[in-house]
Amino acid sequence: MGEMNNNLIGGVWREADDVSENTNPSDVTDLIGLYARGGAQDVTDAAEAAEVAMPAWAGATPQLRADLLDRVAAEITRREDEIATMLACEEGKVLLEALGEVRRAAHVFRFFAGEALRLTGDALASVRPGVDVEVTREPLGIVGIITPWNFPIAIPAWKIAPALAYGNCVIFKPAEQTPGSAHILTQIIHEAGCPAGVFNLVMGRGSVVGEAMTTDPRISGISFTGSVQVGRQLAGACAANMKKLQLEMGGKNPVIVMDDADLETAVSVCLNGAFYQTGQRCTASSRLIVQSGIHDAFIAELSRQMQALKVGHALAEGMQIGPVAARSQLESNLYYVALAAEEGCDVLGGEQLTRDTEGYFQAPALFLGASNAMRSAREEIFGPCASVIRVDDFEEAVALANDTQFGLSSGICTTNLRYAREFKRRSAAGMVMLNLPTAGVDYHVPFGGRKASSFGSREQGSYAAEFYTSVKTAYTYA
Ligand code: NAD
Repeated sequence: MGEMNNNLIGGVWREADDVSENTNPSDVTDLIGLYARGGAQDVTDAAEAAEVAMPAWAGATPQLRADLLDRVAAEITRREDEIATMLACEEGKVLLEALGEVRRAAHVFRFFAGEALRLTGDALASVRPGVDVEVTREPLGIVGIITPWNFPIAIPAWKIAPALAYGNCVIFKPAEQTPGSAHILTQIIHEAGCPAGVFNLVMGRGSVVGEAMTTDPRISGISFTGSVQVGRQLAGACAANMKKLQLEMGGKNPVIVMDDADLETAVSVCLNGAFYQTGQRCTASSRLIVQSGIHDAFIAELSRQMQALKVGHALAEGMQIGPVAARSQLESNLYYVALAAEEGCDVLGGEQLTRDTEGYFQAPALFLGASNAMRSAREEIFGPCASVIRVDDFEEAVALANDTQFGLSSGICTTNLRYAREFKRRSAAGMVMLNLPTAGVDYHVPFGGRKASSFGSREQGSYAAEFYTSVKTAYTYA
């Protein structure tokens, strides 16, 4: 039985009226810990504490903020094995991938320590004589950060680091399924010397804590990553309350495999993109659009490698695919496997591997003979499942790749420079991968999509300043 882990409000660890149990999807009898389940009053108190802390933090030198972020990065690195183990236990990512995610979080804090000193403005000419015009960027204010369970440390890091670097106060609400990594990160930020009230953790249900954030008038903006359904609700609530909003949501990311592709590259790109991390990535390659000439050889090799993937306990030696993160997600995945068969696909794999009183293991699946009109090929599954759609030529492939409500990431495997160049230009997604998995993104460049995948400005890299700062135009006549 784990110990009780509390919220951090105004620099003080605080219990809540309710408690949630954090369990391990690799072994559901393994209770990881107990976590405070906060309510609307905790958001109110956190906003009050942040309001008090805001002027000093906004006015602190960028160097002071950069030093804090550097200390956080160093401590994440020092504790990387412990954090990676927590991540593997609560989310189900295999240990090697968990370690990669933790290292990414440390890099993100280091990167924004540098960015804190690089914020720039503009000096413009005025239309009036003797007048100077300056454009500067100031902190946005108190920011609500709402994150999903699938990257429990990297996604919080890429929102929290720029928020703090640019002088904002933060109220952080992590996903209910993964409070453990969020709690360790909070501990690190607190112990690194973050002033009371600047960074607050309020764990709890999205419908309670998340919604309270949208109505508190002291919160200036909300950065959210999660499902389209919740994103839409937030968009309505933030519009009604005049809050700045940044949304990162789902995907149904296509990879085109052309006849001229290098077979080995194409198989490795699709295997990684579709199945690694149990397919629980917004950037997962869930639609494989394959040209007829290479189709059979590609599917033969991809199926062989898919069936050889080792699925098991996230901490066990040599595992490549961990469990599905939650029972509800497994049930939803199994529903889509059955739906694909009903819709006429030849389904390979996809079966549940253990009783769900043990762990949530599922074999990776290919939906062969899919069409882009099928629901199983149009709706985000968020599991280890990919639809395979056969096409005759490049034009048909591009049309199908873009025929989706989403527009996060897309890819093409080809050795023809003309196809690569054309697809880069014509893809209707925010990120395009040429001979690379749709899911592998760098930590220092803009991240985000189009259509129902994203709303508002880009995350990551120097582009993060768009969301976490507010522009001021000053006129001077002297
Ligand atoms: P979710 O939308 O259910 O939850 C995300 C967060 O929102 C959680 O913290 C949750 O508690 C909170 N929430 C729930 N209801 C809320 C409400 N009414 N108001 C405010 N907050 C609320 O998503 P999830 O199941 O945790 O994550 C999976 C989804 O996230 C997938 O759709 C996936 O594609 C998406 N995702 C997107 C990206 C990206 O960068 N585009 C990255 C990772 C995951």
